Amino acid sequence: MKVSDILTTSTKAFPSLEIVPPLRGMTKDELLESIAPFMEFKPRYINVTSHRDEFEFRPESDGSFTRHLVRNRISETTVCAAIMSRYDVDVVPHLICGGSTVEETESKLDNLEFLGINNILALRGDCMTGEKRFTPTPGGYSYASELVEGIRKYQGSAGYRRKRNGADDRYFCIGVGAYPEKHFEAPNIETDIANLKRKVDAGADYIITQMFFDNQVYYDFVRRCREAGITVPIIPGLKPLSTARQISTLPEAFSLDIPLELTEAIRDAGKEAYRIGTEWCAMQCKDLIANGVPAVHFYTMGKTDNIVSILKECF
Ligand code: FAD
Repeated sequence: MKVSDILTTSTKAFPSLEIVPPLRGMTKDELLESIAPFMEFKPRYINVTSHRDEFEFRPESDGSFTRHLVRNRISETTVCAAIMSRYDVDVVPHLICGGSTVEETESKLDNLEFLGINNILALRGDCMTGEKRFTPTPGGYSYASELVEGIRKYQGSAGYRRKRNGADDRYFCIGVGAYPEKHFEAPNIETDIANLKRKVDAGADYIITQMFFDNQVYYDFVRRCREAGITVPIIPGLKPLSTARQISTLPEAFSLDIPLELTEAIRDAGKEAYRIGTEWCAMQCKDLIANGVPAVHFYTMGKTDNIVSILKECF
């Protein structure tokens, strides 16, 4: 089922999850067992992140260097197929601009459609390791708005429709990302929201936010988006802090604020940090539901127990 249809037909807030594909070496069964504890809470869909291939240069005996592919993770499409083979849950693979030409992106779409997957989260993608700024792949898309437009255009093209017996250009339900505390490259929140609107105008059906730790930030962001004419659902994304170290690593990695109260509670908490982070996230989740959000999306980042106890408490 498309996420847009799930959102339209749901009568109460529901949970969804994001998982990161495993590193090479994990088996399919190990992966499926790792998400089993979540399934009791009937997440409506599971997002699977996408990661650009990384290369390294190795020195040769003649002094030259050769480029080698370091494919660290199993692909999002393979993980989605594995999840579908065992669980009755919709999957949402992430599709990123980085690393693919337009033709390669179209080939990925064909593969997803072949598997019967009709949901995508369309993103520009992170910078490569060592890069400060995103470098578009030659012949690929530079922004997520171009990717959304490209997906709609590909499916609307006469050639595609002939090939697919008239399949419609809305086959894929497309979600996009947003940043309540502003994307780190945007000069200001107004410009970032204007760029978010480009994605919706290009054909995105809904939005999932970056994690945040102060719900007021989300409520203000939603208000600003509505004032800017963005009408699609804006699903809040949450992640429980699990270590004291994350009060410095998460702001750096995701360009976000951690409220003073949470910072002070967790800073010297040692092993208690896990419990405090989980309770804070559960409190955020309950408040969001009480304020009428359509769904809550959880970034699992390889953790299970904390998310499971939040799901138990809130859904
Ligand atoms: P865009 O919407 O393209 O925006 C990027 C920047 O460019 C913003 O500052 C925006 O304001 C600006 N901008 C947009 N359009 C224009 C324009 N036309 N002209 C000038 N400026 C413009 N990364 C991964 O690599 N893999 C994942 O699986 C992944 N999953 C994610 C899931 C979610 C829910 C979120 C919120 C992020 C995820 N990311 C992932 C991270 C994301 O790829 C990075 O944050 C990336 O830097 C931006 O992606 P975007 O799709 O928001 O980009």
